[in-house]
Amino acid sequence: MSLKKTLSIIKPDAIESKYHGKIIDFLENKGFKIVAQKKLKLSKVQAEAFYDIHKERPFFKDLVDFMISGEIVAQVLEAENAVLFYREVMGDTNPEKAENDTLRKLYGTNIQCNAVHGSDSDENATKEISFFFSNLELIN
Ligand code: ADP
Ligand code: MG
Repeated sequence: MSLKKTLSIIKPDAIESKYHGKIIDFLENKGFKIVAQKKLKLSKVQAEAFYDIHKERPFFKDLVDFMISGEIVAQVLEAENAVLFYREVMGDTNPEKAENDTLRKLYGTNIQCNAVHGSDSDENATKEISFFFSNLELIN
């Protein structure tokens, strides 16, 4: 099987709580290679563009406000079946429903402040990676 990539975001709640280092350790222990990583703060326009697929959802405005409330860390993770594997490692959107030993169970607070984002398909992973990173920034 070939290595694939997915886009991860450590969200403002987890950065604020200083979980960044713990999340990196967890990811590396699970076998992900972090092939790119940067800390940044999204503007409203950027957050709206990133979550465009959710623009009709009732939680859209709150989600955008949350995602611009502080610094985030965007990461490109590489593993076999990276997208599906990272969805498993993150756990359910709602930390209360997430399995033990998942990032959202360990570091999430509620359905909005759930510590991490992960792409939901290979197609979206490609789009989301190029939203944050140029090819030059990815380790081959
Ligand atoms: P996931 O991040 O697990 O792929 P979604 O794509 O459905 O989940 O939602 C994107 C993000 O929007 C979630 O990670 C969470 O931060 C927020 N969110 C989702 N559902 C709700 C909700 N019912 N109320 C508030 N925020 C939500
Ligand atoms: Mg999603």
